[in-house]
Amino acid sequence: MVKLTFYGGINEIGGNKILVETKEASIFLDFGQSFCLLDDYFCDFLMPRERFGLRDYFALGLMPKLKGLYNAHSLKGTEVEYTEPEYDAVFISHAHQDHTAHLRYLDQRIPIYVGETAKTILDATQETTNSFFFSETEWRKKNQEKTLMPANVVKTFRTGQKVKIGDIAVTPIHVDHSVPGAYGFIVETNEGTIAYTGDLRKHGNKPELTRDFLEAAKKSEPDMLVIEGTRVKVEETRKNHTESFVQSESTKIAKQTEGLILAMRYPKDLDRFRTFYRIAKETGRKLVISPKTAHLLLSLEKDRALALPNPLKDDLIEVYSREKLTYGKWERAIMDAHKCVDCEWMAKNQKKAMWELDFSFMNELVDVKPAPGACIHSMSEPFEEDPMSQLQDEVLRNWLDRFSLTHNQLHASGHASTNEIFEMVDFISAKRVVPVHTQYPEMFEKNCKGVTLMKKGEKVKIG
Ligand SMILES: [Zn+2]
Ligand SMILES: [Zn+2]
Repeated sequence: MVKLTFYGGINEIGGNKILVETKEASIFLDFGQSFCLLDDYFCDFLMPRERFGLRDYFALGLMPKLKGLYNAHSLKGTEVEYTEPEYDAVFISHAHQDHTAHLRYLDQRIPIYVGETAKTILDATQETTNSFFFSETEWRKKNQEKTLMPANVVKTFRTGQKVKIGDIAVTPIHVDHSVPGAYGFIVETNEGTIAYTGDLRKHGNKPELTRDFLEAAKKSEPDMLVIEGTRVKVEETRKNHTESFVQSESTKIAKQTEGLILAMRYPKDLDRFRTFYRIAKETGRKLVISPKTAHLLLSLEKDRALALPNPLKDDLIEVYSREKLTYGKWERAIMDAHKCVDCEWMAKNQKKAMWELDFSFMNELVDVKPAPGACIHSMSEPFEEDPMSQLQDEVLRNWLDRFSLTHNQLHASGHASTNEIFEMVDFISAKRVVPVHTQYPEMFEKNCKGVTLMKKGEKVKIG
């Protein structure tokens, strides 16, 4: 008998933690933190006390209290005693936080399986931000490079490479999503097969990747399909476009704009980076990126399939370095290897620049003092149900107004639309369907056959 338990991703966007147990093995599919996990108890400066590991998470019921899953450091401040690992593997679908953020609490001896590209992205994120996924990294940073904690066992895969864990065989198949290196999984056991989508879309630049997964999933004749439903809603009110529409409309704006163009996107969305790169090329502008983006592009250079430019050699790209008191080691390395541009350069070349400026660094505009121009906001519109994102949108608009930069909303989502998701369910025609990564699972019940709505922590058996 195969048992599945959904410890996250139920009635919430992200936070997927799906436990699959058979006679011989137990594995998790993803280990993330949902975007709303902390909302009930935390906001602003009131945050879980990381120094006590999982103490606050356990006390508030935010993480499952499971024996043999977490590392000794994370359990130190809790009433759960550290015991030998009882789980065999964790499979990560892609490098987004809502699928990876809780990896840092895992026992280091539990192997983490992750796509090659996703591993490179996680490593680069660890190096250039405060986020960390592999627990020893925190120790290395806090203890002046001295590793006091054993390293996680991390193993990488590529599409189609079957991984055997006891009597479970997991085959990752690539999908198209708003980050490179995204996968769905076909999980085969002696008593039944599970197809898990991870996050996916059909309207990006590589729909054939998603098609490959859907076909493999159908062919596996799954007993259960676990499918995401981020955009599944009674009525879609927000605008969502294809990647090519974002490119053509943004190009029009760029052509009409004489002054500076700000281009805002999610840091790991490299399809959008390519879109901006093409627009800059077509309109004779330089694409100005952050050192963090330069670091990510350099890290991914070895991945030939991604065909990303080398930011230090490409004539179209400039790297903007903010004036700061101290610079990270990785940042210094980029500045030493390359002449970065600064606010004076930007002020002088604003008509020839398309600037990827992050929301947190809006105050660079104070130093650049741009003439009227445009901002292409290529990210989600604010969420009605999230006051923080509404507030952030208001603040952004105030900055843009202050500097006479027009606001242009143009975004292609990383997720398939409601209808596309229901079509996928139909196409794969699994015996049972469990919606995850959605706030409206009941919509699946109304529109699809064989839907089982799960509660967080509840077990379901197949076979
Ligand atoms: Zn997600
Ligand atoms: Zn995602």
